[in-house]
Amino acid sequence: MSTKPKNEPNPAEFTHVTEWVFDLDNTLYPHEVNLFSQIDKNMTAYVAELLQLEPDEARKLQKQYYHEHGTTLQGLMIHYGIDPNAFLERAHAIDYSALLPNPELGEAIKALPGRKFILTNGSVPHAQAAAGALGILDHFEDIFDIVAADYLPKPASATYEKFAALAKLDTTKAAMFEDLPRNLTAPKALGMKTVLLVPRNLEGIIMERWEIPALSDDHIDFITDDLTGFLKELTVRAG
Ligand SMILES: [Mg+2]
Repeated sequence: MSTKPKNEPNPAEFTHVTEWVFDLDNTLYPHEVNLFSQIDKNMTAYVAELLQLEPDEARKLQKQYYHEHGTTLQGLMIHYGIDPNAFLERAHAIDYSALLPNPELGEAIKALPGRKFILTNGSVPHAQAAAGALGILDHFEDIFDIVAADYLPKPASATYEKFAALAKLDTTKAAMFEDLPRNLTAPKALGMKTVLLVPRNLEGIIMERWEIPALSDDHIDFITDDLTGFLKELTVRAG
């Protein structure tokens, strides 16, 4: 049987799902909104000030920690013992005005049967601000953030397990939506349906990226560039 990821939603594969878990950044709002670039710049500035580095050097270290430890924050905590709260406040001091209310997405989330959660490597205030700006915050039962995860970010298995335990979540009845392929490995191992969000309007790049997980990433069940459309397909028959 082929493990090639499927790009069309198949409602039959989600009929058992009653727990809906969403990443926040670049998942509940699309990559092209570019909100994360503001956070990214704030983190660079924080690293530059903390370690008295030039912006280029700070950015290099920031990205190194991101790759090695899952988040810049985790790297800074391990290597420099920084205060995570100060870092998170600084990182998320951004302008949310680029995020516009998305009632269509809100309706699509609301229509899903069961509980909905946000599972983010960001903070609760950031998730509340972003989901609030999108007008979808009320549809979520809870937000599990990097503080709740004891600062151990996705893709660490322990973080998904802690989230599942706290939320009393049966992972075999769950689906996870994420924009980073590596953050879907642990959910798949826990029995969750996995959906990868990819950017729009980058046809050539998207096709290439779609080919790569198709060949090697059997932890990705579905790939879509349209979260709202994907969710609507899942509930259209039930509705
Ligand atoms: Mg994300």
